[in-house]
This record gives sequence, C-alpha cells and structure tokens, in this order.
Amino acid sequence: MGSLLDKVALITGAARGQGEAIARRFVAEGARVVLADILDSEGERVAEELGPQARYVRLDVTSPEQWSAAVASTEELFGQLDVLVNNAGILTYAPLETLKLEDYMRTISVNQIGCLLGMQAALPLLKRGGGSIVNSSSIAGLRGVTGLAAYSSSKWAVRGLTRTAAAELGEHGIRVNSIHPGAIATAMLMGKSPRTEESDARYAGVPLGRIGEVEDIANLVTFLASDASSFCTGSEFTIDGGSLAAIRSH
Ligand code: NAD
Repeated sequence: MGSLLDKVALITGAARGQGEAIARRFVAEGARVVLADILDSEGERVAEELGPQARYVRLDVTSPEQWSAAVASTEELFGQLDVLVNNAGILTYAPLETLKLEDYMRTISVNQIGCLLGMQAALPLLKRGGGSIVNSSSIAGLRGVTGLAAYSSSKWAVRGLTRTAAAELGEHGIRVNSIHPGAIATAMLMGKSPRTEESDARYAGVPLGRIGEVEDIANLVTFLASDASSFCTGSEFTIDGGSLAAIRSH
C-alpha cells in the first residue's frame, strides 16, 4: 500500500465499473483523486464514500471546454496532476450493414476523441513534474469483433494516439500506455442483466477460466500509474485471462 502517495489523478468514467474500481484503489494507495463522469449522482456517491482524498467533477469527455474546467478544478482542489486515466467509454453494437453514421461518430467521439482531448488538456499540468497517462483500449483494439465496427475502430485509434503521445512526451517525463482488457464484469458488458453463475460460465473457455473483475484492471492501472512502471511507455498491456494468446488446435 502507498504506491501512489503524493500523486494526484484524474480518472474519467469513474462513477462506476472499472473507473470506480481504479479510483478506490488509487485512494487506498495514497493518491488524491478527481473522479469524472456524466453520471453525477453515482459519481458524487463514490467520491463521498472515499472521503477528503476524492472529489467528483462532471466531465463529458467529448467537450474541450469541460476538459479545461475539469483540469482547472483538479489544480484548484489538489494543486497538481500526475496521473490521467482515460477510462470513459461506450459500446455500440450494430453490424456494418445497419450501423448508423451518428452512432459511429458518437462512439469515436467518446472513446477516441475523448482520449485525445484529455491528453491535450492535462499536458500543461503533467509537464510540470512528469507523469503517467493510461488510455483504455480493449482486446477489440487488437483484432476486429463482429458487430463492433465503431467500438473496435475507436479502440484501435487509441493505440495510435498512445504510441504517438509516448514518443512526443517522453522528453517531459510523461509516460503513456494503453490497456487492453478482455471481458470484464461491468454494466458495459452485462447491460441491465444481473450477474449470475450462468452468465459467468460463458467465460469458462478463457484460458484462465473466468471473466475479468474490475479489481484486475485496478491492479494493472495502479502499476502503470506508479513509479514501479517508470521504464514503461508506448506499450500495450493486454489483460484478458489469456483469451487472445492462441487459438485452440482441438
Ligand atoms: P461502464 O459502462 O461500467 O463504465 C463506463 C463509464 O464511462 C460510465 O461511468 C459512463 O457514464 C462513462 N462515460 C460514458 N460516456 C462518457 C462521456 N461522454 N464522458 C464521461 N464519461 C462517460 O464500463 P467499463 O467496463 O467500466 O468501461 C471502462 C472502459 O473499459 C471503457 O473505455 C471500455 O470501453 C473499456 N473496456 C471494457 C471492457 C468490458 O468488458 N467491460 C472490455 C474492454 C475495454
């Protein structure tokens, strides 16, 4: 514990799911954390539970103005910014044939452009003392997925953004990495259906035999945010229980 002492983090999509778990772990590790989302009541509740080390701000990641305001609030509240986690995301399901342009554009806006705007807005503060940016991609950013043309394209783009940013920002001591989760048990994957033994059993074919938990993601992101990963930048961290590792021969 304490691997993030003296660090200040801004986490998007932190009102629930993976972002919430990352925020909880960061606070446990000693960080001060700004939780950002568009789900205000959920975000406020999580921040309140976390106490004075955490605050909630409303931030729609597609808005450059709201990004400027969120970064300014972070500086006002905690005086600095060391870690940016671009975690907010949406999933749109539609086969190519029926995919609507507006749904494609919305997915690109949140998942891809949100990530770009976040890095741009955070840069002035991150440049002061160096830092770590973690961008959420997916295993859908490492291969195609039927029905997920919009989502998959946006997550592939996150890799290009991440590698380019790593190359441009290394001289400022800013590290930039992407994470590539497989199936993780959150509302994005499960929708409104409750999690059951049957729904979990669908992931028995994953080499590690289970669905991912939000805590698995929090562990990896904590490592990437901390000084323990000080020589990691421009890298893609797959966290999928082995599901992309190989195809089965029988
Ligand atoms: P989730 O739906 O529980 O959480 C996503 C969060 O992003 C929500 O709190 C939502 O309100 C927020 N959000 C959506 N649009 C936003 C916007 N415009 N501005 C600010 N916040 C916004 O899902 P999750 O699984 O926790 O997703 C976290 C990240 O992980 C996403 O980027 C997702 O694409 C990625 N991911 C998820 C899985 C999975 O299986 N769950 C797998 C791979 C990657």
